Amino acid sequence: MKELTSDIKTHRQNLLSGKVSCLETVRFFLGKIEETQDLNIFSGVFKERALAQAESLDKRIKESPDSLGKLAGVIISIKDNLCLTGEEVSAASKILEGFTSPYTATAVERLEAEDAIIIGRTNCDEFAMGSANEHSFYGPTKNPVSPEHVPGGSSGGAAASVIADCCHIALGSDTGGSVRQPAGFCGIYGIKPTYGRVSRHGLLAYASSFDQIGVLGKNIEDVALALEIISGEDPFDTTCAKLPVPAYSRAESRKSPMRIAYFKGIFGEGIDQDIKDAFFKYVSELKEAGNTAEEVDFSSSEFVVPTYYVLTTAEASSNLSRYDGVRFGYRHPEASTLEEVYRMSRTEGFGKEVKKRIMLGNFVLSSGYYDAYYQKAQRVRRNIQNEITSIFQEYDFILLPVSPVSPWKIGEKNSDPVSVYLSDIFTVTANLAGIPAVSFPVGKHANGLPIGLQLMAPAFKEEKLITFLMRKA
Ligand code: GLN
Repeated sequence: MKELTSDIKTHRQNLLSGKVSCLETVRFFLGKIEETQDLNIFSGVFKERALAQAESLDKRIKESPDSLGKLAGVIISIKDNLCLTGEEVSAASKILEGFTSPYTATAVERLEAEDAIIIGRTNCDEFAMGSANEHSFYGPTKNPVSPEHVPGGSSGGAAASVIADCCHIALGSDTGGSVRQPAGFCGIYGIKPTYGRVSRHGLLAYASSFDQIGVLGKNIEDVALALEIISGEDPFDTTCAKLPVPAYSRAESRKSPMRIAYFKGIFGEGIDQDIKDAFFKYVSELKEAGNTAEEVDFSSSEFVVPTYYVLTTAEASSNLSRYDGVRFGYRHPEASTLEEVYRMSRTEGFGKEVKKRIMLGNFVLSSGYYDAYYQKAQRVRRNIQNEITSIFQEYDFILLPVSPVSPWKIGEKNSDPVSVYLSDIFTVTANLAGIPAVSFPVGKHANGLPIGLQLMAPAFKEEKLITFLMRKA
C-alpha cells in the first residue's frame, strides 16, 4: 500500500486523519520483511514488541493526539550493532550468539521516546568490518535493486531495509563509510554526522575514534528529522559534544550560492566511467545553478586508506579483546582451562575478516612497530585533518563520489580483498577528519544499479549540508 511507505510528514498526516492506523502500518512492514526474506536483510524481527507499540499508539492517536512524539508510528530498523533492551544484538558475529542487550543505545532510546517503532535489527558485516555485507555470520545480504549484487556495507542490511520498503528509515553506523556507501549502492540518502554529534552509547564499538551512528532514508527531510532527534549531549558518552542541536528538520532550503571543492587527480585509473560522468554532470549542474565548483589539491589522497586501516585495526584489536568467552556471548563448549576458553571461543566465534583485523591491529601496536605504524598513522591523520581544514577556509563543501566502483556481484571480489579496501578511498576521509558527510543518489549505471555522490562539510555543519540537498531535491 503506497500510503504506508510515504515520507514521515505525510505518514503523520495519514495517521492523524485516520486514513491509516499504526497497526496497519506495522503489519504492512512485517509483511514486506517476510516477502523479502530471501534477501537476508534482517537478523532479527521485533514482531510482538512492534505490534504492541502500534496498538497503544493507535489508542493515543484517538485519545490524546497532542501527546504524540515527532516519530509517532514511524517504522525504523536498527543495525545489528545497536542495543535495544531485552533484544538480541550480535554485530553479525557468532561470538555474541545468544547475547541480549541489558540496555538501549541512547540514539535508539531517543527514537523510541518520540514514539518511533523499532521493527528489527539488520544484517551487517561482522563488527561493521566490510564494504559489501559479505562478512556476516548470517550470510550476505542481497541488494534489493539487483539481488545478484551486494548492497554495500557494512550497513548493507540497513540500506536494503529502506529501499525494499521494510521500514521508513534505518539507523546504521559509519566508521569509514558504512552508512554512505550502502546508501549509495542502494540509491538512497545516508548521513554520517560529525564525530561527537551522536552518542555512541550502546553502539558495539569497532574503532572508537571513528565510529558514528548515522541515518539512512529515501529523502533528506526524513533523514534530517531522525538526525535531529538522535543528536546531542549524553552523559553516557563523554566524546559526545555538548553543543546545541539545530532543528535540522525545520531547515529551509537556502538559495545562496555555495563554494564547492573537489579533489584534483582522483579520476585516474580504477574509477568507473559512469561514476565519473555522473560526477561531472553534477558539477555542471552546480555551476549552472550559480555555485562555484573548483578543483583543489589534496596531497593526502594516497594516504587515507592505509592510515584508516592502521588506526581502525589498532582500535578494533583493543575493543574486541572484551569478547573472551567469559563475559558475554559464545563460549566454546569443550574448553576446560581458562586459556582454552579464550583461544577456542575466539577462534570459533570470530570470522576470518575480524581475525585478520585483530592480527593487523596487534601488529601495528606491538612494541618495535608502534612508532613505525601506529604513531606514524596518527601523525598522518593530523595532516589529513589540517589539509581538510585549510580547504574549508575557502570552500563550503567538498564533493566526492561515494565509491570508485559500482556494486559488485556477491562473491566476485572474494579473491581480491585489497581491491575492496581500496574502494573505501572516498569515504574514509570524513571519518579520519571527524567531519559530517551525506551521500545522495544522482543516477544509475546502465545495468540499473544506483550511483551516489557525497558532500562533506566542516565539523557540526550538518544543517548546511541538509539545506543544500533540500534545494537540490
Ligand atoms: N568499509 C570500511 C571497512 O571495512 C568501513 C566500515 C565501516 O564504516 N564500519 O572498515
